[in-house]
Amino acid sequence: MTARILDGTKIRDQVFAELKIEIARLAPEGIRPGLAAVLVGENPASQLYVKSKIAACEQLGLNSWMHTPPASINTAQMLRLVHDLNNDDAVDGILIQLPLPPHVDTKRILEAVDPAKDVDGFHPVNLGRLVSGRPGLVACTPAGCMEILRRNNIPIEGANAVVLGRSDIVGKPVALLLMHANATVTICHSKTRDLPDIVRRADIVVAAMGKAGYVQADWIRPGGAVIDVGTNKVTDAKEAESLLRNFPVRLQRFREKGSILVGDVHPDAVNTAGALTPVPGGVGPMTITMLMSNTVKAAKLRRGKSSSRTDTVQSTTGAR
Ligand code: NAP
Repeated sequence: MTARILDGTKIRDQVFAELKIEIARLAPEGIRPGLAAVLVGENPASQLYVKSKIAACEQLGLNSWMHTPPASINTAQMLRLVHDLNNDDAVDGILIQLPLPPHVDTKRILEAVDPAKDVDGFHPVNLGRLVSGRPGLVACTPAGCMEILRRNNIPIEGANAVVLGRSDIVGKPVALLLMHANATVTICHSKTRDLPDIVRRADIVVAAMGKAGYVQADWIRPGGAVIDVGTNKVTDAKEAESLLRNFPVRLQRFREKGSILVGDVHPDAVNTAGALTPVPGGVGPMTITMLMSNTVKAAKLRRGKSSSRTDTVQSTTGAR
């Protein structure tokens, strides 16, 4: 069996097309949703992430602003910046790019963001809404996982779903979303016993561990769906050769570049799973997509407009 590839870039293009229609509908009312990104210091990976988020805003015709305070900014100054963005009516979404410098109190900063503008879905108010199944802004990567399942017609209701990882930004929220969509959810972590046996029972596996190729192909139930959130840069030649022994083209790419991105699920799982997200090109593109979706949703909710496309995202959560 060769798995159906769950292409995140294709879904991104679909969602972007839908968002463009929604954004065009808001324009005659003088509404142009806007995202303010705060990038502290000069971390190259963070710079790259924020640049692609701003580029996505431009592609969709959203307003965007980038604030780039120096790494020396302190918690009080950051709180003032967040306060100003909270009070700026043109700003619908606020994105604090993590990590912040160690001397800045990250938790206090994230909790200072107005929950109505919390497009990352990290604020305790939005987490609380997610727990209780009420509409709110949902963290982008977990929402993207659900969108992939839904748009590929993978049955969730009644399915056994196994989530590998229990982080606040991926594992926990995706488990809640699956539960609200009526899956029977098992959450695994580093202390879980008999992991292969638990994974073997899964109709849907969501892997968010940060361990390259850890989930072996023969753990995947034949025909099961795999959502691989893991994004691991492999630079060790032996590791790359063992992971990609059946993928000569990718192995060649590794040899030329000296590194390659691999998910948490062994690439050989493409021969056991029924459907699977590739890494890269699966969950990755969905994170920015859902950030854009959340920005439009936040704009509509803040301005008392009902949310159409974005409601369908919410409906996958079973929110009442
Ligand atoms: P994290 O905070 O490091 O959490 C990892 C989780 O995996 C923890 O709950 C940990 O358990 C669990 N774990 C580690 N080793 C395990 C093992 N051997 N067996 C079972 N569980 C194990 O990571 P994260 O932020 O959730 O990210 C996870 C992965 O997703 C990373 O590769 C990250 O790069 C990727 N990611 C991708 C995107 C995207 O846009 N594609 C977005 C976010 C994250 P404990 O709790 O017991 O330590």
